Amino acid sequence: MRRAIYPGSFDPVTNGHLDVIERARKLFDEVIVAVAHNDEKQPLFSLEERLELLRETAAKIDHVRIAEFNGLLVEFARAQKAGAVIRGLRAVSDFEFEFQMALMNRKLDAAVETIFLMPKEEYTYLSSRIVKEIARLGGDVSSLVPVCVAKALSRKFH
Ligand code: ADP
Repeated sequence: MRRAIYPGSFDPVTNGHLDVIERARKLFDEVIVAVAHNDEKQPLFSLEERLELLRETAAKIDHVRIAEFNGLLVEFARAQKAGAVIRGLRAVSDFEFEFQMALMNRKLDAAVETIFLMPKEEYTYLSSRIVKEIARLGGDVSSLVPVCVAKALSRKFH
């Protein structure tokens, strides 16, 4: 069984995340979407809300499981018997941070390989942060996120 972990904040899940999950599913038998507790980042959506929005969207894809994790990613990967970590790369601006994380994770556990996937072009400019900003200002996010996420955003801001 080839299993990969796709970690992130998913605050909230966007069409870009779903695109990466679909691509990862073509390469792995099972993809575990792992939501980081991330207390430092002051998320808009609580952990439970972020998990629920993923359950309503990503979990509908075959062989995709939603989990939460706290602590070191490589330890979580080991516990789940996953040999790979998936990350999305949008632009050069993602590269430096992702490169540092990937090499540090390799130093912590050389058995876990990080794999970068590029989303469909139209999602290159998409991030949870920009979606929240547009929604906060009353803009239309319906082409950027699943319907349940658009509804959850409008409940947060109106
Ligand atoms: P984090 O807080 O770990 O950056 P995110 O939820 O913002 O969590 O992102 C999780 C992963 O998904 C990261 O690897 C990020 O680069 C990637 N990602 C986010 N949005 C997109 C997108 N539109 N296209 C491709 N990858 C994306």
